[in-house]
Amino acid sequence: MIVSVASGKGGTGKTLVATSLALSLSDNYKVQLLDCDVEEPNANILLHLVINQSQPVYIPIPRVDEAKCTYCGKCAEVCAYNAIAVVKEKVLIFPELCHGCGACSYLCPESAITEESREVGIVERGNSGNLELIQGSLAIGEAMAPPVIREVKRYIDPANIVIIDVPPGTSCPVIEAIKESDFCLLVTEPTPFGLNDLVLAVEVARELDIPCGVVINRDGVGDDKADRYCQEQGIPVLLKIPLDRRIASLYSKGIPLVEGMPRWSEQFLRLFQDIKDIIAASRVTK
Ligand code: SF4
Ligand code: SF4
Repeated sequence: MIVSVASGKGGTGKTLVATSLALSLSDNYKVQLLDCDVEEPNANILLHLVINQSQPVYIPIPRVDEAKCTYCGKCAEVCAYNAIAVVKEKVLIFPELCHGCGACSYLCPESAITEESREVGIVERGNSGNLELIQGSLAIGEAMAPPVIREVKRYIDPANIVIIDVPPGTSCPVIEAIKESDFCLLVTEPTPFGLNDLVLAVEVARELDIPCGVVINRDGVGDDKADRYCQEQGIPVLLKIPLDRRIASLYSKGIPLVEGMPRWSEQFLRLFQDIKDIIAASRVTK
């Protein structure tokens, strides 16, 4: 089972929820936590696992053999990302824009394009007991998160419970991280910004046809509009975490909620049971 933990905006407590859910479940199940927030992977700031494997992530980028090139411009025409341009008698390649899709080399009529590898990030792994962490990190200055996220997801073992810590926002990296999930847990806070981004995140989950539910973090900080929105939309609010100085203090010290306040473990196990029930019900109705 794959459960994505997402939020339209950063700083809502997504990693707090993902790590506490993973830790609570790992007492009884084999769990993989995938940190796909590759621009700022911070699950391990809470988990403190020893990283024992590290693999670079490469994408193939084109290299042009000018001796074979006729400057026909076909490669620039097919590139959807404007990563290659033909100007007079010169082919220009912009590696930081290249998605490594291979279309230019495949379609070059002169077979003038070969591919070379470019490192865009790393994937690291660590484990403790039943819990395995797989985290991706984008190389400094890189903007191409999806290839690193794809590489992190390659380590998914379907026999395990998989929790994905999704990047914030609603753009390509988010879609790459949550697609193929069985459930999307949306973490929000009861503020106007939180609600605005929750609405966008719900749209993404619905577009991908993934059942979703909501966790309201810092409950009590704002108003009840997130609650009312969920009610109107028929989206279950599965857990509320109150605005509590002790919870914030644990997080700031790098202590997972369920370790600092073990009574929360029961709530996360109940949350998981609710998720399982919703997934089962959604499969019946499909
Ligand atoms: S498609 Fe091939 S031959 Fe045409 S400009 Fe590009 S590299 Fe040169
Ligand atoms: S590999 Fe794809 S993205 Fe990169 S330059 Fe070629 S067509 Fe463009």
